[in-house]
Amino acid sequence: RVVTRFAPSPTGTLHIGGARTALFNWLYARNRGGRFILRIEDTDLARSTEESIRAILDAMEWLGLDWDEGPYYQTERLDVYREFIERLLDSGHAYYCDCSAEDLERRRQAALAEGRKPKYDGRCRHRGLGPGPDRVVRFRAPESGQTFLRDLIKGPIAFDNAELDDLVLLRSDGMPTYNFAVVIDDITMGVTHVIRGDDHVNNTPRQILIYQALGAPLPRFAHVPMILGQDRTRLSKRHGATSVMAYRDMGYLPEALVNYLVRLGWSHGDQEIFTREELIRKFSLESVGRSASVFDPEKLLWLNAHYIRERKAEELVVLLEPFLAQRGYPKRDPAYVARAVSTLQPRSRTLVDMADGLKFFMVDEVDYDPAAAAKFLKPDMVEPFEQLIRELEQLDAFDEKTLEAAFHRLSERLQMKLGKIAQPVRVALTGVTASPGLFEVIDILGKERVLQRLRRALD
Ligand code: GLU
Repeated sequence: RVVTRFAPSPTGTLHIGGARTALFNWLYARNRGGRFILRIEDTDLARSTEESIRAILDAMEWLGLDWDEGPYYQTERLDVYREFIERLLDSGHAYYCDCSAEDLERRRQAALAEGRKPKYDGRCRHRGLGPGPDRVVRFRAPESGQTFLRDLIKGPIAFDNAELDDLVLLRSDGMPTYNFAVVIDDITMGVTHVIRGDDHVNNTPRQILIYQALGAPLPRFAHVPMILGQDRTRLSKRHGATSVMAYRDMGYLPEALVNYLVRLGWSHGDQEIFTREELIRKFSLESVGRSASVFDPEKLLWLNAHYIRERKAEELVVLLEPFLAQRGYPKRDPAYVARAVSTLQPRSRTLVDMADGLKFFMVDEVDYDPAAAAKFLKPDMVEPFEQLIRELEQLDAFDEKTLEAAFHRLSERLQMKLGKIAQPVRVALTGVTASPGLFEVIDILGKERVLQRLRRALD
């Protein structure tokens, strides 16, 4: 049975790359009817924070990536690591080392000066030291031969063992190092598939050696290529927002981000839009590409616009709440807001766009765009507006058909083209020259607001 895991280090927010790794692990487990584990790798005490853990869990929840087990915390598993350290010490695969940081650095510099590759020189390998303060436990790595990785994405890779260090497994403060803790966790948690960013590919042979020293079966490894910015350097803050929650705050929907993230590396023919169920059904590691993917904000916007159109207006009203509150709009009846939202769905790319576009529906008095007001709200509109007000006052129904007929009657009576009336009315009602269809807007705003705005526009 498949077991995958996402193992973030809580040293910041969940960013795009981490979210994609989490998503691939989640999808693979769901596709194979397996389990998905969340594990917090918090052994770097200086850099791990509660706040970051919270931020990662929130982002996972927002994306809908639910976990079957965990979150586990490495700092709560120190006795497990200790037990495996003892086993490695007993079998001679590990040893104590008391080389000080200063000594190591001096020897490293000397090696560099002599043109040798700087790596631990094995000074403590055969000293048979026991435990003691300021002592670390090192892995006794093979000095020759090769270690093979058959990566599910990258294919076979061979590493020369001579390149690998006697890496530290346990620090002098009793904390395990990443390479050691990750292996012990993956063994004891029964992880069958390790899917992670290919920035870890050089750690993998070290980890494989630890599995072998413990006589544990290897999981399958799948290293996912990096995500690059438009300039083809590794995606970073320079390229814009990288944290998942920043996208939420910019008005993206989780399903849009999920759909976007999955296509950063995975493909299924030329299909671009996938429901969550389709992703679960279709996801496979074989269809993850070998080359890096480039982050494309325009495509993310396009997907977001798609999912905004797909959502029920009532759901969008709920999602919009914080954005509307932020703008200080007065509270309105949700049914009214939902109707307004539905007019903006075809024309909004984000919830921020939508919240901005909703302004004239929400506020008591519209702000006129000065250029629009100067151009369209001129004295020659006083007469047409007065006639329109009379026309509208008489209407019982305010649906589009009735309104259209009323505007046509007016246009004939005044001998004015419909557009010459409609555009000033639009400015009077919305403050701007571009809006959803005028009759829709009038219908939704309702008689009282419309008449009040038309009268005010003439003052
Ligand atoms: N804590 C590691 C990271 O955040 C996990 C790597 C792994 O999945 O093995 O990069």
